[in-house]
Amino acid sequence: MYGPVKDELAATLGEIRAAGLYKNERELTTPQSAHVRTRTADSLNFCANNYLGLADHPDVVAAAKAALDEWGFGMASVRFICGTQTQHTRLEQRLADFLGTEAAILYSSCFDANGGVFEVLFGEGDAIVSDELNHASIIDGVRLAKAMRYRYRNADMADLRAQLVAARDAGAHRVVVVTDGVFSMDGSYAPLPAICDLAEEFGAMVLVDDSHAVGFVGAGGRGTPELFGVADRVDILTGTLGKALGGASGGYVASHGEVVELLRQRSRPYLFSNSVAPAVVAGSLAALDLVANSGQARERLARHTALFRTLMGAAGFDLLGDDAHPHPITPVMFPGEDGARRAAEVADHMLGSGVYVIAFSYPVVPKGRARIRVQLSAAHTEDDVRACVAAFVAARDAVG
Ligand SMILES: *Cc1c(COP(=O)(O)O)cnc(C)c1O
Repeated sequence: MYGPVKDELAATLGEIRAAGLYKNERELTTPQSAHVRTRTADSLNFCANNYLGLADHPDVVAAAKAALDEWGFGMASVRFICGTQTQHTRLEQRLADFLGTEAAILYSSCFDANGGVFEVLFGEGDAIVSDELNHASIIDGVRLAKAMRYRYRNADMADLRAQLVAARDAGAHRVVVVTDGVFSMDGSYAPLPAICDLAEEFGAMVLVDDSHAVGFVGAGGRGTPELFGVADRVDILTGTLGKALGGASGGYVASHGEVVELLRQRSRPYLFSNSVAPAVVAGSLAALDLVANSGQARERLARHTALFRTLMGAAGFDLLGDDAHPHPITPVMFPGEDGARRAAEVADHMLGSGVYVIAFSYPVVPKGRARIRVQLSAAHTEDDVRACVAAFVAARDAVG
C-alpha cells in the first residue's frame, strides 16, 4: 500500500526543489551534436561529452544501421549463456589492442564496470586507496568490496603516500591505487607518473578510470596513460563507450589476461546483466576505427580548447585547468557567496541566447566554488567557440 509513502516522497521532492537542486531535463528534438534543437530554440551545445563529434557521425550511424539487419536488435541473454556474438569478442579485442592491454571485457556501462571490478579482485585483507574526487561509480564499486578502504585528498601525493603507509601498516595484502584519469568537474588530470612511482614503491597496483579521456587524450587517443607515458605501468583501465567513443552506451575493463578472465567468471554486473546491444557494438567498432584516424579531430579539439581558454582569459573570466595540459572540460568559475546564483543566471541567459551550458554548484562541487562547465568538441567550429565566448560576455553584462 502506497499510502503515507506518497506524502513522504512529495516532501522529499519539495526539499530538493527548495534547496535549488531539482534537475529539469531539457528535451532535444535532434540527434546529439554540436548544434542541437531543444523544444524552444536552436542551441550551440557546449555540455556534451561528444569530444570527437562521433555521436552522430555518418560512419557510426551507418555501421549501427547495418548491424540491425545483420545482427538483429537485441541479445536477450547475458554473455555466458547465449549473448556473445563474434562482434562482441571482436570489440573486446579491439579495445585491448587500442589500449595496449592483454585483454578487455565489455559491460553495459562504465558504471557497471566500476561496480563489478573491485569486489572480484580485492577482498578481506586487501586495501583500496582511492582519490576523494573519484566518480560516483568508483565510490559505489569500492563500497561493494570487502577490502579496507583509504581515501586520499585529490591528486595529493603526500596524502597518497600517507594512506599507502597506513595500508601497509594495517598489513594489507593486495593494494590498489584508484583514480579517475581526468576529474570531470575540474578538467584536471591525475598525476599518473607520481601515482605510478608511489604504487611501485609500495608494491601496489594502479587502476585508472579514463572515461573522460579515452579516444581524445594522448597523441593516439589512448588516454591519460599515453599522455603521461605510463601506459605500461597502469594495471587496470576502466572506461566508457558513452562519451568520446560514439557516446551510445557500454563500458569496459582492460587489463592483464588473468584479471579479465576472472572478471568473466565472477563479476556480477557482467554475469547478471544483458549483453551490449548489437547495433551499439557495431557502432562502437566503427567509432574505434575513426578514433584510430582522428589525429586531425584531436588537433582541432585541442585548438578549440586553447582558443576558448585564450579568449575567456582575455575577457577576464576565471578558468580552472592546466594551460600546459588543457582538457576540453573547461570550468568557468563563479566563486563566493552568491556564485551559485550568478552561475545559474549566466547559464540561463546563455541558453536564452542559444548557447547551451550548465551551471554546477554545491553539493556537486564545494561550497563557494560554483562554475559553468564548458565542454569543447572537435565538432564545433572556431566560430562556434567565439559565439560561446561572446555569449558569456553578454550574459555577464546582463547579470552583473
Ligand atoms: C561518465 C563516467 C562514468 C560512467 O560511464 P557510463 O558508461 O555512462 O556508465 C564512469 N566513470 C567516469 C570517470 C565517468 O566520467
